[in-house]
Amino acid sequence: MTTSPTAHLAALSAAGLQRLQSFLNDGSCLLAFDFDGTLAPIVAHPESARTPLPVIRAMEPLLRTHEVAVLSGRSVEDLMTRLGFEAHHLIGNHGAEDPACPLSLQRAPAYRARLDGIRAAVASTWSAALVAQGVRMEDRGLSLGFHYRLSRQRDAARRLIAELLAAEGQGIRAFDGKLVINVVSVDAPDKVQALQSLMTRRGLTRVLYAGDDASDEQVFRQHQDPDWFTLRVGGDARLSAATFHLNATSDMPMFLAACQRRCSRLQ
Ligand SMILES: [Mg+2]
Repeated sequence: MTTSPTAHLAALSAAGLQRLQSFLNDGSCLLAFDFDGTLAPIVAHPESARTPLPVIRAMEPLLRTHEVAVLSGRSVEDLMTRLGFEAHHLIGNHGAEDPACPLSLQRAPAYRARLDGIRAAVASTWSAALVAQGVRMEDRGLSLGFHYRLSRQRDAARRLIAELLAAEGQGIRAFDGKLVINVVSVDAPDKVQALQSLMTRRGLTRVLYAGDDASDEQVFRQHQDPDWFTLRVGGDARLSAATFHLNATSDMPMFLAACQRRCSRLQ
């Protein structure tokens, strides 16, 4: 019998682990993870992020029992340099970049070109104002990230970014991350669509999805059914739409080890 999800259940509680066991013992289950703040701790300088060794070690047995996907706001190329293990599927740029999907590859140049106006404006008329507010633009190819983590006046920095996007952005979608505003082409797939496309292509019907910020909440909100094990990492569990909660990124090795123990009969 399938039970309905219990809201905000601690993933490492006895009840959470019991649910995890029943969920994982199905070979068609995809294990999908966000990267920054989920597998790797958030750091002041995004280029310094790396998957911690305990996470890599705990992930390795799961790579033999399940298909594993990592979805990130980073480009796939960037992700590969810092992941530290070979996931079966890498999806970048918040869902816009899926190298294994022919349709995604075909549309990528248009997604990239849609951001050219903003790139040009940031390099010219907006450059000094962004520097003065401590805002740094990260160009990931199919998405842009305006980081204001290092700004001394974060509200003013957010206002400046909003002004810039209102003036220079056309046909775009902007959304919050952790102290970053992300920008993609309005018609680019998001994480939800990219995950669904991957599951369809691979014939997978169930997914464990772990994430830590607003873009992951979009996935949690749309999938509150028993075929999804949604896990919010960090933050206030009461504000999350995920069914399960993990206190912090540093608990991820423990969670992965628990996954491995509970799907050992598949090995
Ligand atoms: Mg994240």
